[in-house]
Amino acid sequence: MATESTDKTGSPSASPAELPRITLDEIVALCKRRGFIFQSSEIYGGLASTYDYGHYGVLLKNNVKAEWWRAVLQERDDMVALDAAILMHPRTWEASGHLEGFTDPLVQCLGRCKKRWREDDVREEQLGAEDAKGEIRCPECGGELSEPRHFNLMFETLMGPSEETGMKVYLRPETAQGIFVNFKNVLQFARKKPPFGIAQIGKAFRNEITPGNFIFRTREFEQMEIEFFVPPDEAPEWHKRWMEERMRWYTDLGIRADHLQLREHGPDELSHYSAATSDIEYLFPMGWSELEGIANRTDFDLKRHAEFSGEKLEYVDSGSGERYVPYVIEPSAGADRALLAFMVDAYDSEEVEGRERVLLRLHPRLAPIKVAVLPLVNKDGQPERAREIYEQLRTLMPAEYDTGGSIGKRYRRQDEIGTPWGVTVDHQTMEDGTVTLRDRDTLEQTRIAADELGAELARRLAAPWTSPKG
Ligand code: ATP
Repeated sequence: MATESTDKTGSPSASPAELPRITLDEIVALCKRRGFIFQSSEIYGGLASTYDYGHYGVLLKNNVKAEWWRAVLQERDDMVALDAAILMHPRTWEASGHLEGFTDPLVQCLGRCKKRWREDDVREEQLGAEDAKGEIRCPECGGELSEPRHFNLMFETLMGPSEETGMKVYLRPETAQGIFVNFKNVLQFARKKPPFGIAQIGKAFRNEITPGNFIFRTREFEQMEIEFFVPPDEAPEWHKRWMEERMRWYTDLGIRADHLQLREHGPDELSHYSAATSDIEYLFPMGWSELEGIANRTDFDLKRHAEFSGEKLEYVDSGSGERYVPYVIEPSAGADRALLAFMVDAYDSEEVEGRERVLLRLHPRLAPIKVAVLPLVNKDGQPERAREIYEQLRTLMPAEYDTGGSIGKRYRRQDEIGTPWGVTVDHQTMEDGTVTLRDRDTLEQTRIAADELGAELARRLAAPWTSPKG
């Protein structure tokens, strides 16, 4: 739930000197140019702050999600998966506190511009703290501001054939509640005992007041959430472990450690359900901003759902008969935000032989395409041989075959989508069966037998990788 004190538009708490030299505009332009992400409904003038993922965007986001599943599920034995429906019984949101509490007080400009603002943001900006007393004015035109009003951030819709008889339901504002309401189901079928977790990836919707910064804050986004159920006295220890685990996930996937930080919420910032929360923040072009929140949600949610549903939501040990309501540690990440951080961290440009080379130095496991196979010239049997090699490689990993344009142009295209390796088929290939293997980061070219490509690329893909950006 949104309670952090940093500016919701992402105002920098870092000094400008620390800020990455890359701008969000460069990322947006690359995303459009190379078909990662488009403005939604563009032909109608676009729908504000909503985006569509194109081919490479889909592949990249799938890889982000697959790496998350790998780390939190496949490489552990204390986690199970869930995919709950977006639409849930409306009582869920009464129990969770969203219907009463998922609100941000808004103030409207009574002066010239009539713009709406989040009161806490304006107070923080003008008076130094979210809850500071004193007069605030419209940040845009200096006009007087209205009294704060509450605004429900959940999207509503009607379930049922007619407006008169339809039941009001909500698009979920977080995936977490789908996990809590399934606690009993999972406990029965999975035969797990705390500590264990339930992991889920899915869409969430929030009628955000100040969306922006490209895909950083949108009204429709994807969350990757874990609810990890633990005996209450073990909660602080598990909270610490999950903070470490999740920091490691980002650095293992190539994010530079000095561009990541953990920030603990102060007491005035904590959500109503939380005993402790820390955010993993990344140094985005607009400053340090939240990537993921890791909260100790106590037994708040299970107790509330037990109260509202009448079901017992507790763990009973079949041996000792001991019963208790577990505490919950929640690492809650955004798939779109993580993707943006990976792209920002990977974006680079350098001069090579007098020309600018723009590239994404993505971790090879995240790269949408792992290898491009390119004939040097479009004759002498080279395209046919390159296509054969490509057809073998694509059974092992996502590969591309490209014959269009000069070899330099084709490599520039692959650099911009972050393809870590390029294979060139040339006249020597036709004589001795070797190809050149080009490395995206070092530009080093090595000669290798075409039949060894599969094994060599699989070896490179499995090897640890660190960003050469340093
Ligand atoms: P923020 O303070 O940035 O609004 P939050 O604290 O409300 O975030 P949580 O409710 O903890 O966010 O959600 C967990 C994660 O979901 C966030 O860390 C972020 O990665 C992602 N997320 C939340 N809101 C959005 C949004 N509007 N657009 C994109 N991702 C989001």
